[in-house]
Amino acid sequence: MTATLRTDPPFGIDALGFAESRLSPAARAALHRLDDVLAREVRPLLAEAWETATLPAAVLGSLIPLDLMRPEGVDAAEAGSSMFSGFRNYVLARTDVSVATAYNAQSGLFRTTVRLGGSPEQVAALDSRIAGFEVRGTFALTEPEHGSDIAGGLATTARRDGDGWVIDGAKRWIGGAGTADLLAVFARDVADGRVKVFLVPRDAEGVHLTRIERKVSLRPMQNFDIVLDGVRVDEESRLQRVDGWRDVARILRAMRSDVAWIATGLQAGALDAAVRYVTEREQFGRPLGGFQLVQEKLARMLGNLTSSLGIVTQLSAIQDGGDFRDENSALAKMQTARLARETVALAREVQGGNGIVLDNDAARFFADAEAVYSYEGTHEMTALIVGRALTGTSAFA
Ligand SMILES: Cc1cc2nc3c(=O)[nH]c(=O)nc-3n(C[C@H](O)[C@H](O)[C@H](O)COP(=O)(O)OP(=O)(O)OC[C@H]3O[C@@H](n4cnc5c(N)ncnc54)[C@H](O)[C@@H]3O)c2cc1C
Repeated sequence: MTATLRTDPPFGIDALGFAESRLSPAARAALHRLDDVLAREVRPLLAEAWETATLPAAVLGSLIPLDLMRPEGVDAAEAGSSMFSGFRNYVLARTDVSVATAYNAQSGLFRTTVRLGGSPEQVAALDSRIAGFEVRGTFALTEPEHGSDIAGGLATTARRDGDGWVIDGAKRWIGGAGTADLLAVFARDVADGRVKVFLVPRDAEGVHLTRIERKVSLRPMQNFDIVLDGVRVDEESRLQRVDGWRDVARILRAMRSDVAWIATGLQAGALDAAVRYVTEREQFGRPLGGFQLVQEKLARMLGNLTSSLGIVTQLSAIQDGGDFRDENSALAKMQTARLARETVALAREVQGGNGIVLDNDAARFFADAEAVYSYEGTHEMTALIVGRALTGTSAFA
């Protein structure tokens, strides 16, 4: 059925050949190795991981040795590029969105915060250990009472006390906090009102974690409520290049493209699942894929995927050229996540009743697209960023 379309194992159906035109052969080879490990060691664990809402240690255990933040044979500049990290997220999300999100919590959220927020000395001390997962971290920005309005609303406080700081407040939804060594906590300095970032050891006195239970999206990925009750940290744990929301926005702008890539990769996974199913399942004496109405849905899915790939590859290309703009990454996140919602619904639909069973894969993508739609900037917030750029008027409140 896909004989005339370009397919490439790590990338699925890449009709217009984005991966080949944007990645070096060495980078593609590294992602082939990743896809191989995902197929052999991760995919068999996924249904059970979903049912038990646990991400088996074997998942990251099989990915860490691949050293995907600086893979062997790949030039360091390319390995550190938005394009490579984007395609890495794409390949991960094409297999599973929880796995991609868990990996990105380290490679995207935490590493980017340290790289862009830390002093040269802090980056030198930590970056390579973060890349190798010797130091694990999380990104703790969202709060129970402040999600979309976090910029103005951030209520966690940091108070100078002698040589150090005392942090009080609460965080919500923090991915991977249970296994992190360090929590990158965003807190407002009571003295100057500016937001600062502190690398707080997870086991520091006064840090209390509670896992968020009963999720219906990204079930294996573990998210936490965190209470910070008089937590003492020293000045060295403060990231020295974050002093105000402008610096936080600089970090968010760089990391939002990673999520647009996840929203694109999950569409590739959903399309694979749909094509596989309609090729095998027969009704009215012929494969489902032979019906016009089914083919229209598949074509629409491929259209969504290809549009998304066009957006994220061009976004990464301009970011790798040094051009970071809120409205560009917001546009990419908004549009890819919106298309993803339609793509996964169509994948679920062409599988009929079996589309709600985990074994046929579409169900996982269907549920997971909902979290991606909301995290790192909801549809409305990203649309308002784009709207502000279009009109020159901020309409947030
Ligand atoms: C699975 C998952 C993982 C996450 N991981 C992390 C993490 O690791 N670290 C972290 O810091 N955060 C994390 N988050 C938090 C995430 O970024 C927030 O959920 C997101 O920013 C939205 O905030 P909220 O959920 O509080 O929604 P709210 O802000 O309460 O919004 C609810 C709805 O109201 C809409 N809305 C709000 N204000 C307006 C307005 N002015 N105009 C129009 N509509 C509006 C929103 O768009 C949304 O549709 C995660 C979230 C999820 C679901």
